[in-house]
Amino acid sequence: MGGMKDLFQEGDWSKEKHVPVIEIESECKSGEEIVVKVTVGKQLPHPNTTEHHISWIAVYFKPQGDKFPYELGRFEFLSHGSSVQGANTSGVYSSPSVTLSFQTNKAGTLYATSYCNIHGLWENSVQITLG
Ligand code: FE
Repeated sequence: MGGMKDLFQEGDWSKEKHVPVIEIESECKSGEEIVVKVTVGKQLPHPNTTEHHISWIAVYFKPQGDKFPYELGRFEFLSHGSSVQGANTSGVYSSPSVTLSFQTNKAGTLYATSYCNIHGLWENSVQITLG
């Protein structure tokens, strides 16, 4: 039996709408704030309805040479159109996009994972090199 890792799907975010897109929005320098934006559906919008939506994004950083990753943040998207009138009636929809910042004194790998309530778990990663 495979572990959870076998359930995470990857792909080219320009063609696959579920892959979290990781954008580094600042310079990466040791001990300084690194600003990261993670979006699902940046190129190809993912549906955002009561029936089909992105539920969460989680972001991790694993310093080079360390054994374990550190969880930087976990973001739940909780409004998907439902109201007392029923599905897709509120007009209120959380967007599957977050901006976070963190510091590190080591280079490493930044991982983003996301979950679609219908299409499961997705992941992406980028290298962080410190200038
Ligand atoms: Fe989906």
